[in-house]
Amino acid sequence: MKIFIVSSCILGLECRYDGKAFADLSDKLKDCITIPVCPEQLAGFPTPREKCEIVGGDGFDVINGKARVLTESGKDVTELFLKGAKMTLKICRIVKASDAILKDLSPSCGVKSIYDGSFSGKRVKGVGVTTALFLKNGIKIRKII
Ligand code: SF4
Repeated sequence: MKIFIVSSCILGLECRYDGKAFADLSDKLKDCITIPVCPEQLAGFPTPREKCEIVGGDGFDVINGKARVLTESGKDVTELFLKGAKMTLKICRIVKASDAILKDLSPSCGVKSIYDGSFSGKRVKGVGVTTALFLKNGIKIRKII
């Protein structure tokens, strides 16, 4: 059976910044082995926590030191996002997962789009920090929500 790393918040786990889950797709994925992960919780953020966005680029730019991740009140949490991405990749390696199903729009897990860093709800094309690290390391990414 194929092993997928999956964003916890789409498996019904209440790990989002607002203390809620986004969806529960466990039934839809019942024919796979799913390993739930939340990069932000792995980094040590509390739940609930302040909303964060990437400012100045996307996850690849954060990894390359060209963009930062900020909270809505302006605190720089870039290093924590990088830590969460690295820990999530480590779990991928431990469980030998080659694929991930991630929640779009998140500054960690975004697959096609993220918010633009203005905290105004505006979306731009780009990936989250964990997604970027996964792609750099050959993990295939799927978006189902
Ligand atoms: S999108 Fe990713 S980082 Fe955000 S709550 Fe879900 S699993 Fe955690």
